[in-house]
Amino acid sequence: GSMSLNGKVALVTGGAQGIGRAVVQSLLQSSAKVAMVDLNKDLGEECKAQLDAEFGEGNCTFIECDVANGDALRDTFQNTVDQFGHLDIVINNAGITNEKDWEKTIQVNLTSVIKGTYLALEHMSKENGKQGGTIINVSSMAAFMHSPHQPVYTATKHGVIGFTRAMADAAIQGDYGVRIHALCPAFVDTPLLQSVEDEDNMGKFVKFKDDFKRSMSKFGVLQPSLIAEGMMRLITDTSLHGAVMKITCSKGIHFHTYEPMSA
Ligand code: NAD
Repeated sequence: GSMSLNGKVALVTGGAQGIGRAVVQSLLQSSAKVAMVDLNKDLGEECKAQLDAEFGEGNCTFIECDVANGDALRDTFQNTVDQFGHLDIVINNAGITNEKDWEKTIQVNLTSVIKGTYLALEHMSKENGKQGGTIINVSSMAAFMHSPHQPVYTATKHGVIGFTRAMADAAIQGDYGVRIHALCPAFVDTPLLQSVEDEDNMGKFVKFKDDFKRSMSKFGVLQPSLIAEGMMRLITDTSLHGAVMKITCSKGIHFHTYEPMSA
């Protein structure tokens, strides 16, 4: 079945730009309250002012936070619940592509997604006497294809899928009342796509950028609004649990299917 988001509260990391910004917009359109969490204060405040003008004040809040800072992330979740009363939807979306500072990439793309999932469960799991909810962890088609251009980025996106599927099983077996999904977009037209041509981000792998650009022109580039549409489906379709959604130009929104485990 499907559900209305009226009165629901969402937290979106990396919400001030790109894919996060698009899903914040869709959530507000569906009458949810949204905490837009981002490192970029100027952009976040500018974004909030635009959204207040469009949707009215009191529906969206901006919280400045580096998701790689575990204490700050914990405070951000608490702050959201203090402002809106509870939490129903968490989208762990913030991500970077940086092969030079690759440990930072692991921290933001994988460690923070794990922490964000655990914090979401503290506030939403029936295990903790809460009302249940939905978590979406943003992976990438980089978890299914690989490019010589982004080895550590690729590793983090594989990691997000493995973690998310195992947690989805834990949520079912532990009766958390929380649906947990991974989302894997192909190339999306956001500022992140520019950073991959930059030596400051890619280090020595920048020399493979032509390989990356070739696959971009082969596979095409999606609009953030389509990714937001996929996220809204994961949130509202209560029959979905532990889904690995892929979004590509050739197939649109679809699901990865796995063979059942066998000995
Ligand atoms: P983007 O760079 O356009 O936006 C990311 C946002 O996250 C920015 O507003 C940035 O300020 C914020 N952010 C970065 N580091 C942060 C941190 N430590 N703490 C808090 N906020 C932080 O990127 P995007 O393309 O919208 O990517 C969003 C997610 O989608 C990422 O996880 C990315 O890996 C994934 N993704 C992107 C593409 C693509 O082609 N753009 C494809 C597949 C997956």
